[in-house]
Amino acid sequence: MTEQRQTAPVLRAERVTLGYGRTPVVHDVTLDVTEGGVGLIGESGSGKTTLARAFLGLLTPMSGNIWYGEQTLKNADLRAFRRDVQPVFQAEALDPRMRIGASIAEGLPRSARHRVPDLLEQVGLAADLAHRRPHQLSGGQRQRVVIARALAVEPRLLILDEPTSALDVTVQARILDLLAGLDTERLLITHNLAVVGRLCRTAYVLFAGRVVESGRTADLLDRPAHPYTLALRDAVPKLGGRPPEARGATEARPAETGCPFRLRCPLADAACAEPPALREVQGRQVACHRAEEVLG
Ligand code: SF4
Repeated sequence: MTEQRQTAPVLRAERVTLGYGRTPVVHDVTLDVTEGGVGLIGESGSGKTTLARAFLGLLTPMSGNIWYGEQTLKNADLRAFRRDVQPVFQAEALDPRMRIGASIAEGLPRSARHRVPDLLEQVGLAADLAHRRPHQLSGGQRQRVVIARALAVEPRLLILDEPTSALDVTVQARILDLLAGLDTERLLITHNLAVVGRLCRTAYVLFAGRVVESGRTADLLDRPAHPYTLALRDAVPKLGGRPPEARGATEARPAETGCPFRLRCPLADAACAEPPALREVQGRQVACHRAEEVLG
C-alpha cells in the first residue's frame, strides 16, 4: 500500500536517522520544508549536509522517512522530484571546460535552450557571458551561474548548501539579495545564523546530528533558548563570518552520554547527565533542561 500523508510541505523528514555504514550521524530528526524558507544551521559535523543529501535522495534513511509532498521519497516519481528539487552548491561545481551558456542549458530540452539569456538576466548577468568559460568570471558571477542553472528547470525548491560562504562580504550580500527576491522555495544549509535571518522564516539548529532548537528565525535571533544557538548568534554577528568559535564553545567533542552539548556548555550541571528531550518553550522547540533560564 502507498504511504500517504494529510498535509504536504514540499519536503519533510519524519523521525529520520541517517548514517554511513552502521554509524548514525543524524538522530531521529523531524523537519518540515515549508513556505518562507527553512534554514538548517550548525557547525561542521552537525549533520546538516548529511540531511541535505537525504533530502536530495542521495542517502537512504536508516530509519524514518523523507516525504516529498504526499509520498515517501522511495515511492515518489523520481523524474518529477529531480526537476522540482534542485541543489545549489558552491560555484566550484561548474565544469571548467564548458561555456556558461552550455552549462545552464545542460538540463533543458533543446526547445527551451533559447531561455539561457533570460536566465542570465534573472540572476543579474549580461547575456553575452554565455560564451565565456567559468575561469573568465568572478566568484560572484560563477555563483549566479550556478543559481541560473538550478532555476532553468523551474524547480519548486532550491536546496542551497553554503551558497555564499566562499565569497567576500559585498558579493555575498548581493547574492543573498538575489536569492531573497526569487519566488522559489528554499532550504538553506549554513553555519551562519545571520544568513538564515535574511532568507528563511523558519530555522532548525543542529548539534551532533540532533535538532537542539527550532522555530521562527526572528525568535531564535532575538532570544535564543538553547546555549548553542546563543553561541552561534554571538559568534557570527554579521554576514561573512567564519564557522563559530563561540562563547562557551571549545574544541570539545559532543558528549556521548547525557546532553551532547554539555562539555561545551557554560550552564551544564548535574541534571545535564540526562539527555534533554525536545519540548515546546515559548513558541519554539528546544532540547535543553535550562531553556527558560537562557531565555531569561
Ligand atoms: S541541557 Fe544542560 S548541558 Fe545541555 S544545553 Fe542545556 S544547560 Fe547546557
